[in-house]
Amino acid sequence: MAPTHDEDHEVDPQAGPPPARTTIAYVLPVYDEEAGLAAFHAALVEATATRPDLAFEFVYVDDGSRDDSLAHLLKLRADDDRVTVLSFSRNFGHQVAVTAGLDACTEADAVIIMDTDLQDPPPVSLQMVEMWEDGVDVVFAQRRSRQDSRFKRATAFGFYWLLDRMADTEIPRNVGDFRLMDRKVVAEVSRYREQDRFLRGIVAHVGFRQEALLFDRDPRFAGETGYPLRKMISFAASGIVGFSTAPLRWISRLGFAISAFSLLLALYVLGVRLLRPESSVPGWAFLGVGMFLLSGLQLIMMGVIGTYLGRVYVEAKDRPLYSLALTARGPRDGDTTPRSRR
Ligand code: UDP
Ligand code: MG
Repeated sequence: MAPTHDEDHEVDPQAGPPPARTTIAYVLPVYDEEAGLAAFHAALVEATATRPDLAFEFVYVDDGSRDDSLAHLLKLRADDDRVTVLSFSRNFGHQVAVTAGLDACTEADAVIIMDTDLQDPPPVSLQMVEMWEDGVDVVFAQRRSRQDSRFKRATAFGFYWLLDRMADTEIPRNVGDFRLMDRKVVAEVSRYREQDRFLRGIVAHVGFRQEALLFDRDPRFAGETGYPLRKMISFAASGIVGFSTAPLRWISRLGFAISAFSLLLALYVLGVRLLRPESSVPGWAFLGVGMFLLSGLQLIMMGVIGTYLGRVYVEAKDRPLYSLALTARGPRDGDTTPRSRR
């Protein structure tokens, strides 16, 4: 964990060598949530109290809230030393807030990301823990139902439809960022440092054993959504553009289609010229065919540039090439899948 300048940096009371308890860390992004934070934290504490055998850590990331969320968070911390508070200097956005939280929890055995507006019900996160204990590396919560407005449901449907068709990685539908990740998955995800982040895509991309957990998404408890239409569109674009170079490939396909059409047109013009010379206007064959052929060629060339640009884009993201799930080498006894649990 990165050193903080907290004056009250506690020493772990059970310091010394393990047996350490299994730790589950929650990454909790907060943006203008003052109205619901106390209720949220109470619900989370109540839900996690059902597992006294586990150690919990609550990492709140204040994403430059304009209201009193930060003061509320510091108060939570004053009452509960399992609370960690990170606060951004301004609003960097939900995906970056979650990334900062993940960066702060590399020590935990598993990390759960959830919203702080009570749309992700805390008890569901403990079902995730059980699935993780059964050996699942990523448990993602999949919405069985949503209580959102008809508009939000329609746009979400359109978004997932497009994403499904275009993305190179298979990204599950109706899955937000509410999920549990084993520490080895967190370590892999943290290697992806692309600026324009679409975390659920990155998690799908790293692999490992991933399973869905169906749940009913509740309405927002208090306050307003931090994802107005503008942010939603740019987020959807990040998902599609970040995981697909398909639009660039479409340019050359269109170019080929138009060029092929110009050839058909040339045949047609030739036919008219030969069979019914009286009905052809001088020069139209040259102009018509030439126009389509040239635009087609231009699009093909743009597609060629697009293909190279796509490569540059992929290289510029500088993603890790692969993620290992197991390395077996040296003396052959005792090979096990690397269960990170202690
Ligand atoms: N959030 C954030 N930064 C933002 C917007 C939202 O950290 O710029 C947090 C917010 O506090 C909440 C979660 O991200 O915990 C999901 O946001 P929200 O509930 O507003 O989105 P929705 O559920 O409407 O998609
Ligand atoms: Mg919400």
